[in-house]
Amino acid sequence: MILPVLALVGFTGCDRTMVANADDAQSNDKTPATTVAEPEKASAPSKTTQTKTTKVNSKDKVPFMIGEYNPLNEKEAYVLLHKGTEAPGDGGYTLTKDAGIYLCRQCNARLYKADDKFVSHCGWPSFDDEIKGAVARNIDADGRRVEIVCANCGGHLGHVFEGERLTEKNTRHCVNSISMRFFPEGKELPPVIKQVDPAESKQVPKPTDKTAVEKAE
Ligand SMILES: [Zn+2]
Repeated sequence: MILPVLALVGFTGCDRTMVANADDAQSNDKTPATTVAEPEKASAPSKTTQTKTTKVNSKDKVPFMIGEYNPLNEKEAYVLLHKGTEAPGDGGYTLTKDAGIYLCRQCNARLYKADDKFVSHCGWPSFDDEIKGAVARNIDADGRRVEIVCANCGGHLGHVFEGERLTEKNTRHCVNSISMRFFPEGKELPPVIKQVDPAESKQVPKPTDKTAVEKAE
């Protein structure tokens, strides 16, 4: 019942529009090879990034780190900090069905429950709901899609699409595996790393005296 709709409206992936293929969606659990796109090359860390990024002198794995957040390797930084998109496919968490929870790779914020994950055949992990308050939405730089970011650290997660009628909630969070870390049910979760956004702190009005602060609090 959803397939005719898919065929009509087309099927939009994280990275680019993909033409719907009802046969693939119906009979093949694996992503059609024709949808595989080459990941764009990671750009150098931008000096205009909102929060200062530190490039640590390291031979390989851990070159990028912001404040107290978890250090990121180059591929992770490319997606989380520079809004890149990993190549679609069955890798990462795309086909993971285990019970558990998905955390932000950069700050450990609890983003998605495995219960809300579904098979979308789009090539990326898909969820039809987020943990309340965990995901913020922005208009993408392309002016067309809706970008989703971690509400705590601002790390790029992917995009969200509505109206595809893939699930009852009619929503698909199309998330890069590399933006998340999966913790199976029962495994102890690391604490969320909180950090005040400098832009946000500027918006807090400065009290005129100490009494005002105490009263306000
Ligand atoms: Zn985060």
